[in-house]
Amino acid sequence: MRLCADVGGSFVDIAAFDDAGAIGWRRKVPTPVGDWAAFVTVFADALAVTKGDRVSIATAGLVDPLSGIVTSANIRCIDGQVLADELARALGVPVRVVNDADAFVLAEAARGVAIGHDRVFGIILGTGVGGGLVERGRIVSGAGGIGGEWGHGQVVHESRIAPGANPVFPCGCGLVGCLDTIGSARGLERLHRFLHGVEAASIAITEGAKAGERRAAATVDYWCDLVGGPLAMLLHAVSATIVPVGGGLANATALIAELDGRVRANLLTPATAPIVVPGRLGEDAGLIGAFVAGA
Ligand SMILES: [Zn+2]
Repeated sequence: MRLCADVGGSFVDIAAFDDAGAIGWRRKVPTPVGDWAAFVTVFADALAVTKGDRVSIATAGLVDPLSGIVTSANIRCIDGQVLADELARALGVPVRVVNDADAFVLAEAARGVAIGHDRVFGIILGTGVGGGLVERGRIVSGAGGIGGEWGHGQVVHESRIAPGANPVFPCGCGLVGCLDTIGSARGLERLHRFLHGVEAASIAITEGAKAGERRAAATVDYWCDLVGGPLAMLLHAVSATIVPVGGGLANATALIAELDGRVRANLLTPATAPIVVPGRLGEDAGLIGAFVAGA
């Protein structure tokens, strides 16, 4: 019996998987973000209940493939730790740790919308912009674990002709104009405010655009340009044939369909079927990805 967990900044979703990969016992508890002892206890208790003998974790944060060190801004008690080793020592069972965006892509490739595709570039459009590249069922982690992270690096530049005309925003990473500042749910809201001078929640913008509301539609149209261009370029570079989308904006199916259209219009090879598609596994993707990653 394998214990798998999706460790986010707010909750730990933890479940027991049998060898065939079916979910049995499952529980969701608040993440003890600043308390290592309480963090260990979440897993120790679950192991005791389920008689599990291995642990696989998907977590919000980078996982260095060489050192195993986790970098997590939100979960302080694991930040800077060789999490797999520390947890294995505390629990007495083998532990595997993967980044949650990578886990999402692994899951969609193995059991979701990307089954049958050799190379899958999955993206997260949620509170931030994340991503992961999976080739033949294996994560391409890259140096420092940043493989697939496409949210940072400047994509929006100041206009030389009309300064102030372009939506160039500072990014949390220290750069300006990153895709993360536009492509996330907050980014969509930021772009709407920039274009129209009004506040609106991302869901109001996507629903408004779907209903034909002029300002919301203009925001979504611009957003699709800013996100779709870099995404098309990336697909050329990595030769991925499908892009499962996770995160909150994946639920805005009309938005994702419009993004798909924009990406396909930018591809050198015509695509007859949708490429950018919402993930199929919903809230289970992190857990299933942790299971697929192994222990
Ligand atoms: Zn950035």
